[in-house]
Amino acid sequence: MAERLKNFINGRWVESRSGRTFVSLNPARKDDTVAIAPDSTMTDVDDAVKAARAAFPAWSRIPAPRRGELLFKIADLLSRRKSALGRLVTSEMGKVLPEALGDVQEAIDMAYYMAGEGRRLQGETVPSELPNKDAKSIRVPIGVFGCITPWNFPTAIPAWKLFPALIAGNTVILKPAEETPACATRMIELIEEAGIPAGVVNLVHGFGKTGEALVTHSGVDGISFTGSATTGRRVEELAAGAHKTCSTETGGKNVIIVMADADLDLAIDGAVWGAFGTTGQRCTAASRIIVQASVYDWFVARFTKAAGRLRIGDGLKSSTQMGPIVSQAQYERVLDYIAIGRKEGATLLRGGRPYSKGAGKLGWFIEPTIFTDVMPAMRIAREEIFGPVVCLFKVETLVDAIALANDTVYGLSASIYTRDVNASARAERDLDTGLVYINASTIGAEIQLPFGGTKATGSGPREAGGRGGALDLYTKWKVIYRDFSGTLQRAQIDKE
Ligand code: ADP
Repeated sequence: MAERLKNFINGRWVESRSGRTFVSLNPARKDDTVAIAPDSTMTDVDDAVKAARAAFPAWSRIPAPRRGELLFKIADLLSRRKSALGRLVTSEMGKVLPEALGDVQEAIDMAYYMAGEGRRLQGETVPSELPNKDAKSIRVPIGVFGCITPWNFPTAIPAWKLFPALIAGNTVILKPAEETPACATRMIELIEEAGIPAGVVNLVHGFGKTGEALVTHSGVDGISFTGSATTGRRVEELAAGAHKTCSTETGGKNVIIVMADADLDLAIDGAVWGAFGTTGQRCTAASRIIVQASVYDWFVARFTKAAGRLRIGDGLKSSTQMGPIVSQAQYERVLDYIAIGRKEGATLLRGGRPYSKGAGKLGWFIEPTIFTDVMPAMRIAREEIFGPVVCLFKVETLVDAIALANDTVYGLSASIYTRDVNASARAERDLDTGLVYINASTIGAEIQLPFGGTKATGSGPREAGGRGGALDLYTKWKVIYRDFSGTLQRAQIDKE
């Protein structure tokens, strides 16, 4: 029986005023409806924004360590429910269970990390140039945040946005991806159970138009968006036009460089994980692999064999290593890209077809797909595919490898496999991406450092922890000068 979901507005579970609904399906068994969710309107968004605005003054004045205590409770609840939440992630989004549990673990880690920030949220105290005067900067919340999330990390990404927003004292409206409304609902239920005051966190389900209603609403002060590059660009433009704080995390065309001196078995493992982990549906998935010429043929043969051994199927089965594509639309998009690659003249070395063996025909499965003879100008070499499709390239030198790696509009994640310390140092310096991995795949960012990329990958402050991370998005700086001299002191002028 499909679960009936509701919006969560001002501490109450409510239907959309539209009365319309949409369904989320299990991508491994598309006849299995996971949930029926409200298709929300502008009026629902307006209700949520009003609730969030009304809740802001009291919430923002609660001492941050107290807000942290609530996040500790949320972390504890997430930990206790990890197994059930993980199974739901697999059923609704498709990733294999160990990865789904990792998705939930990321949310737990973020809740603990941001809970601890309640006792830091550091600013600066610096000396004043004048006697009997203090000078300091403090972080203050922005106000009401609209958080718009994609389906590929249906627990982790909402957590990445909600927890830093809350610890900083903002109130929030979450508009989760239409493909994964049940996962988002579980998260909000648990936040409610932890005791969040009414209106501080609101949930509004729906499609792009519901997200856009949030972006354009005059009562929303900040937007945090993760999704496609095209939508991200539109969100940036709308937010800039309305002077809203905004951060976008969008696409990638991530790359693994394999030098001839590398531990090649390790590089094969990393390439398979990077290209086909989460069925290639991570913004950090490796979609280009650049191999030094002298080991290219060996690498291609071994990599192709390893990809062919991956067991495809329902992610809830313990033997499965690669799950389905999230939805019919994405499935068709990935198959279109495969057709484009063939038409452009790349060689389809393996895969390229729907996987329909056994239970495969029940879901949206595509075989691990490898292209060779790919020219850098081809669309499959330049555009984000977001599926189990990877392009292989042959180069002579490290300089060529780095130039090719950087030849993209995106700049999220890059990796190099080498045992040469000088080569790794050059790659670290010259790869123009937000994340660089040495002797590890393109995926596996940890939450205590900023996450995000360069160029078209996104704009605004990065997500997650550390200097330059999410707290820079969810707070603004206020500088306070306190003069206790009792006289008129003039900075820059009274230089005694
Ligand atoms: P994906 O290809 O990952 O589905 P999208 O960018 O279409 O990427 O979707 C990511 C999130 O953005 C989803 O929650 C979606 O509903 C939302 N969204 C889509 N279009 C818009 C828009 N014009 N304004 C705001 N949010 C949108």
